[in-house]
Amino acid sequence: MIKGFRGTSLIDYPGKIASVIYTYLCNFRCPYCYNIELVVPEEYNKLKDLSEDFILQELSRRKGFIKGVVITGGEPTLWGERLIYLIERIYYEIGLPIKLDTNGSNPELIKTLFNRGILDFLAIDFKTSPKRYHEIGGDFKKVEKTLNIAKAKPEKVEIRITFYPPLVSEKDLKEMIPYLKNFKYIAFQKYVPGKTLEKNEIPPYSQDFYEKAKNLFREFLPEVEIIERF
Ligand code: SF4
Repeated sequence: MIKGFRGTSLIDYPGKIASVIYTYLCNFRCPYCYNIELVVPEEYNKLKDLSEDFILQELSRRKGFIKGVVITGGEPTLWGERLIYLIERIYYEIGLPIKLDTNGSNPELIKTLFNRGILDFLAIDFKTSPKRYHEIGGDFKKVEKTLNIAKAKPEKVEIRITFYPPLVSEKDLKEMIPYLKNFKYIAFQKYVPGKTLEKNEIPPYSQDFYEKAKNLFREFLPEVEIIERF
């Protein structure tokens, strides 16, 4: 399940110094994905597996210093019960809060984690207009369910939008906005060309587009705090 571990990160858990656990496998294929080594079989097969026991030892060693644990991927929720068990062990054995990153494709698992009270923070990627999820291999019905579950805990959720021009046009944003009512935090993330799944280099948006997007969100979602990661 786990192919990577970073002992200390200052940027992955809002307001906390955290360790980061990287799971492999993903059920989406976003062209701008830069986690190729966790998504493409020929790549992740080259990486060695890290056991959950090893990870718990590493977390335990750092417990005085780190204030949280981030689980990211790939798509961590594809690991189902095994992921839930890992989160339970971190929560009960190590006693650290956990943030989970997801593409939103497993609403049942998110519901279970919230119901058990073992998730401190959830980051959900909102990739494109609902009508276009099929282009990245996703089923928006599931993502919509996840968004509806997450809405009940807005203070514990961040929605992340990566501004990859072919998937996030002004029209796409307008079609995404109705699903974002009642959330508290929305992060705008810059797409960075480079070593991505799609080999064609597409230039990112200019600052003008972000300003336009911010104005759009302020108009239709005035209650939301926009976090800029440009
Ligand atoms: S959901 Fe995340 S890990 Fe999966 S392909 Fe998209 S960007 Fe990559």
